[in-house]
Amino acid sequence: MQKVTHMIAGEMVSHSEQTLDVFNPATGQVSCVLEMGNADTVASAIAAAEKALPEWRATPPLKRARVMFRFKELLEKHQDQIAQLISEEHGKTLPDALGELQRGIENVEYACAAPELLKGEYSSNTGPGINAWSDFKAVGIVAGITPFNFPAMVPLWMYPLALVCGNCFILKPSEKDPSSTLFIANLLNEAGLPKGVLNVINGGKEVVDALIAAPQVKAMSFVGSTPVAEYIYSQGTANGKRVQALGGAKNHAIVMPDAELDGAVSALMGAAFGSCGERCMAISVAVCVGDETADRLIAKLTPQIHELRVGAYTQEGVDMGPLISKEHFDKVTQYVQEGVDSGAELLIDGRGLSVPGHADGYFIGGCLFDKVTTDMSIYQEEIFGPVLCVVRVNSLEEGIALINEHEYGNGTCIFTRDGEAAELFCDEVEAGMVGVNVPLPVPVASHSFGGWKRSLFGDLHAYGPDGVRFYTRRKTISQRWPKRASHEAAQFAFPSQQ
Ligand code: NAD
Repeated sequence: MQKVTHMIAGEMVSHSEQTLDVFNPATGQVSCVLEMGNADTVASAIAAAEKALPEWRATPPLKRARVMFRFKELLEKHQDQIAQLISEEHGKTLPDALGELQRGIENVEYACAAPELLKGEYSSNTGPGINAWSDFKAVGIVAGITPFNFPAMVPLWMYPLALVCGNCFILKPSEKDPSSTLFIANLLNEAGLPKGVLNVINGGKEVVDALIAAPQVKAMSFVGSTPVAEYIYSQGTANGKRVQALGGAKNHAIVMPDAELDGAVSALMGAAFGSCGERCMAISVAVCVGDETADRLIAKLTPQIHELRVGAYTQEGVDMGPLISKEHFDKVTQYVQEGVDSGAELLIDGRGLSVPGHADGYFIGGCLFDKVTTDMSIYQEEIFGPVLCVVRVNSLEEGIALINEHEYGNGTCIFTRDGEAAELFCDEVEAGMVGVNVPLPVPVASHSFGGWKRSLFGDLHAYGPDGVRFYTRRKTISQRWPKRASHEAAQFAFPSQQ
C-alpha cells in the first residue's frame, strides 16, 4: 500500500508512524495511507521556511513570477494525471476534475503578473520637498488549510499568489484526498522553486493547532466548514495572526415567473447536482416566486433528476460521482430522513441507489424536496450533498428577505428576464457573490472570492486583488532630501499644510 508523506524543503519526508486510510469513494476500498503529521513535522517545516525566507523575499518579483510561468506549463502537461488522482480520491467525474484544475491554473496565471501586482503607489510633493510611496512587503511565513472538495483548485487559490508576493508557505491539505495536492506541489520543485519556500504537511487538527500556536506563522488562509473556520479565525487572531477563513454555505437561487425556464432548469441541474452537491457554491435552495413558477419548475426538473447518470469516474458519460466518505453518506441520508420527518414533500428520493459493480461505493441519487420551510434542518443547514429544496414565496422581496435572514451568505443568483428585478436583487441581497442568470457566480482569478455573514471570517476575500493585499504588508515611506545646509526651526505643533 502506497504511503503518502510530507514535502519539506523540497523532499518527501516521513516523520511518524501514525497513519490514516484514504478511500476511493467509488469502491469503498482503501487507495493509499496517509502519514499524519504532528508538532515536530510542523517545527521542521517552519525551520525550512525560515531558512528559505530571506533569499526568497529578496528575489525580484519578476524572477518569482517566472517560476509560476514554468509551473503553469507543468500543470497543463500533467493535467490528465492530476485529474485521475483527484477523481480517484474525491469521486468527481474526470471532466469536473479537469475543470477545477483549470480554474486553479487561472490563479497561477494571475500570479504571473507579480511585477504589476506589487508595483506600489507613489505621490510626489506630499509636503514641502517630500515624496511618499507605499510598498507591499511579504508577510513572512503563511499557512494554508484546505478542504476535500477542491483538492487542486483551493490550494492554488492560495500559494501561487502568496509565493510571488515573497512569502514562504506551509500547506495542510485535506486528509481525505491528499494525493493530487501533493503531486501538484512537487511540480513546483521541478519549476525551480527554491527548497523550503513551499512545504506540505499532511495531517489533521494536531497539525493545524501547531500552526496556530507557532509565532513564526504570520498569516493563515483557511477554506472549509464554518465551525472550523470560526475556530481557526478566533484562535489565529488571538495568537496575533492575520486570518482569512472561508466557511460553509447554503446558496439560494430565486426563480422569477418570467425566467427562461429551460435555461434555468439546466443551470440548476448542474449547480445542484454537479460534484454530487459537494461545492461551497452549489445551489441547494430554489426559491420560486409564485406557486405556478414552482409547479412549472418542478415539472421540468423531475425527469432530468431521474435521468441523472450516477457512477464512478471510470465509467463513460457519468454526470455525478459518489459522496466523499461513508460518514458523509450517512450524514446526507440522515438529512433526507429529517426532511421527510419534518413534513417536506420528498418528490425524488435518491437513497438506495445501486451502481452496478460498485456495491460498496458511497453513491446517492439526486433528491428533490418541495414545500420546504425555514424551520427545517434541510433548509437551515448545509447538507453538502445532491439535495435540492424548493421553497415557495409570493414576491421577490419576500425571497430576498429569506436569503438575507439565513446565517450563510456565500453565493446566490436570480433567474429572470426583468432588469429591474435583477438590479433590486443585486442591490439588496446579502451575499458575497451574486449571479444574474449565472448559477455559480464563482469570480474569475482577477476578482476575489468570498462570502458574507458566517461564510467568511476576516476582512479580505481569497485570491485576486484581495489576495495580494492579504499576502502583503503595506509600508509607506515619506522622504525628504534637504536642499540647504540650514536646519528648519523645531516645530512643536503637528505638521499640517494649513
Ligand atoms: P472541514 O472543515 O472538515 O475541513 C477543512 C480543513 O480543516 C481540513 O484540512 C481538515 O483537516 C481541517 N480540520 C477539520 N477539523 C478540524 C478541527 N477541528 N481543527 C482544525 N482543523 C480541522 O471541511 P471539509 O469537509 O474538508 O470541506 C467541506 C466544507 O468546506 C463545506 O462546509 C464547504 O462549504 C466548505 N468550503 C467552503 C469554500 C468557500 O470558499 N467558502 C470552498 C470549499 C469548501
